[in-house]
Amino acid sequence: MAITVVGSVAFDSIETPAGKRDRCLGGAATYFSLAASYFTDVRVIAVVGEDFGPAEEAVFRNHNIDTRGIERAAGKSFFWQGSYLDNLNEAKTHATELNVFGAFQPKIPDEYRDSEFLFLANIDPVLQRRVREAMPQARLVAGDTMNYWIKDHRPALLQVLKGLDVLLINDTETRMLAGNSNLVKAARAVLDMGPRMLVVKHGEYGATVFHKSDHEAGARPFRAPALPLEEVMDPTGAGDSFAGGFFGYLASQPTLTPATFRRAMFYGSVMGSFTVERFGTERLQQLSREEIDERFNLFRELTHLD
Ligand code: AMP
Repeated sequence: MAITVVGSVAFDSIETPAGKRDRCLGGAATYFSLAASYFTDVRVIAVVGEDFGPAEEAVFRNHNIDTRGIERAAGKSFFWQGSYLDNLNEAKTHATELNVFGAFQPKIPDEYRDSEFLFLANIDPVLQRRVREAMPQARLVAGDTMNYWIKDHRPALLQVLKGLDVLLINDTETRMLAGNSNLVKAARAVLDMGPRMLVVKHGEYGATVFHKSDHEAGARPFRAPALPLEEVMDPTGAGDSFAGGFFGYLASQPTLTPATFRRAMFYGSVMGSFTVERFGTERLQQLSREEIDERFNLFRELTHLD
């Protein structure tokens, strides 16, 4: 099954206690599609500027990611600058330059229209909704958002939430969206806004999935841990890599049962754990399926009781 993802393809300048990188390839759609590409076919919708050259294009091509939906526009690509000097779990944003992203009007290539899985990465909810409506054939739709859209673009975001099967956001965003500081109550309030499932990401502490109806067997909240690592080099993109592992694994499975979703939570954690081991997408670019499955087994050991 193919996944179409819409979101940012960007250049990032990052500073962490482990060092610095200037203008490395980033963006939510980039991390998502690299992570998901180890499981299934991925197609990207985004816009980039003249600074996006053959080297960046090759990163996608080397992973068989379909880039026909990446539009080239005159100007510079989206640029983000952030640091994690005080807290590895939360980025401090120093600059967000939308550049060509400011006038982005997503165009969906005809070849993408049979995608059964759709991921709406963190972008303007108006654009997320437009893409969702243009792809009615998608049978599983997941999405992400951030504090900016929750605070200042709430009506548009609420429209998007109505059309989502799965929302993946972090703890702070969940509490902010619900206006409730208790995570369980906040999760219930978010599920009342539309999605059938809510995946709450807890940074270095893992992620929890909440279901709309938790009375059915297999639909109770479920938590996947994150891997305790001795060194986290760069947390950028961990959340998007989690989403790529989670959704990529789902798209690779013949049936979607509660057990499939639980395993997908582990694959999400696995891909997030690789991303943070190096700067930017460095680690995500050089993985093998064997390494991924080995790490999946490590997660099993970490949590197995008897
Ligand atoms: P994450 O660390 O998973 O939240 O994602 C980090 C990625 O999101 C970086 O590569 C940034 O380029 C990208 N990003 C940061 N701010 C925004 C934004 N406002 N809209 C879209 N993408 C963003």
